[in-house]
Amino acid sequence: MKKNRWVVKLGTGLLTQGSGEIDSRQIGAIVAQVAALMRSGIEVVLVSSGAISAGMTAMNLQQRPRTTTGLQACATIGQIELMSGYQHHLITHNLLGAQLLLTHANLDSRSCCFNASRTLEYLLSQKRFLPIINENDAIASEEIKVGDNDRLSAYVATLIDAEKLVILSSIDGLLTTLDGTGKVIPLVTEIDDALRALATGTTSQRNVGGMATKLIAAEIAAEVGTETIIANGRKEGILLGIAEKKFTGTTFKLKKQNRGELKQNGLAAVV
Ligand code: GLU
Repeated sequence: MKKNRWVVKLGTGLLTQGSGEIDSRQIGAIVAQVAALMRSGIEVVLVSSGAISAGMTAMNLQQRPRTTTGLQACATIGQIELMSGYQHHLITHNLLGAQLLLTHANLDSRSCCFNASRTLEYLLSQKRFLPIINENDAIASEEIKVGDNDRLSAYVATLIDAEKLVILSSIDGLLTTLDGTGKVIPLVTEIDDALRALATGTTSQRNVGGMATKLIAAEIAAEVGTETIIANGRKEGILLGIAEKKFTGTTFKLKKQNRGELKQNGLAAVV
């Protein structure tokens, strides 16, 4: 596990406005915090959702496309919108975004994992590039997709031995009740059935996953000793708060599974 190396996953609901278009102000706020983290010596890799939602808006679609081809086309258009949104803000901090699009098949391949981790290591070593990863939705079909960026971000965390996986969405953390009124559970050291019952999966027109996939992500990340944090990305200064250990959210400190085989053997070895 590499100290001061974070993977930060940003959910669609956080990056887009009610209408589904990219929320430039929100991206600007996240980018400013990432820039500050990088200045303080923390290496950051983003895993960003939002391409399909941005594509739907750009294409004037009210409903999520039902066909695989429709979704794939939507992602090709939305991914550009998304990355332009990041680049616009990154250059004001003298940073450049570096796009990596991964598929499940890439993660299954030992050589692709090796190449992806080598590229990421190089980008991080330069200190002025911000890798921004998404699933390559344009060429992934439903049956063989990772399917949600919570899990994808956990695979990325194991690929680069991150210290922290920070999953930001518009919820405050794992709550004690399902109806959204409960208190945030600050620390989880073991995921049991009772806890799993508090984490439902929700997939809406634009959002994928819900809390269920975040729990799975925390378990995957724990395989290499990565700590996972779930927090509300709309809270001002949340990433800086996490760096200073002053934040509200759920931290998962799970027992290390000690496998860490992704980089050596591809995804097939870890799922
Ligand atoms: N890759 C999808 C997108 O960019 C997001 C998947 C997810 O939100 O988990 O729209």
